[in-house]
Amino acid sequence: MTTPEFYTIKDKKFKLMIDDVIIQSRIQELADMINIDYQNKSPIFIIVLKGGMFFGIELLKKITVDCEIETLISKSYGLNMKSSGTVDLIIGSIALEDKDIIIVEDIIDTGLTMNKLKNVLNSYNPKSIKVASLLRKPDCAKIDVTVDYLGFEIEDKFVVGYGLDYAEFGRQIPAIYQHIED
Ligand code: 5GP
Repeated sequence: MTTPEFYTIKDKKFKLMIDDVIIQSRIQELADMINIDYQNKSPIFIIVLKGGMFFGIELLKKITVDCEIETLISKSYGLNMKSSGTVDLIIGSIALEDKDIIIVEDIIDTGLTMNKLKNVLNSYNPKSIKVASLLRKPDCAKIDVTVDYLGFEIEDKFVVGYGLDYAEFGRQIPAIYQHIED
């Protein structure tokens, strides 16, 4: 199936930014790195819902080391297109003490969400915390967050697809699309 060049979601138009083939091959490279780095370890992948679930699943299908999987809910965008900077976290009753955590996120924009996530998870006394993110917008950073396994750096554009939504729509699109003005 060919990837469409444009999508319309509700009132907004989006243009293809990163094709699925390119995403898949980059995710394979990230998985290869993780498989080497965690050779004699059993990491726990914490997928940040809902945005991180598509990247998380594609990444995890390529992981060959023993691992556990958890999920966590974080919300910062609400129904509009600007990062609000405030974050609500809902974490299950997961045992994280002495665990090697890899947080799996869709995108790092201001960095506030990931910073908060790392601080909260640190309070569970894990052995280590690393971050895997499919995308990062370096021009939007308000706080410096280390991304250990980064898919792509992108321009400051609002993007959808691969788990990322516009007002809850567009998550299922199997590629990354950027918002364009009419
Ligand atoms: P931050 O706290 O780094 O500013 O924002 C992180 C969260 O904002 C991401 O997990 C994601 O949910 C949302 N976000 C940031 N940029 C975008 C974007 O371009 N598109 C969408 N759909 N969500 C975004």
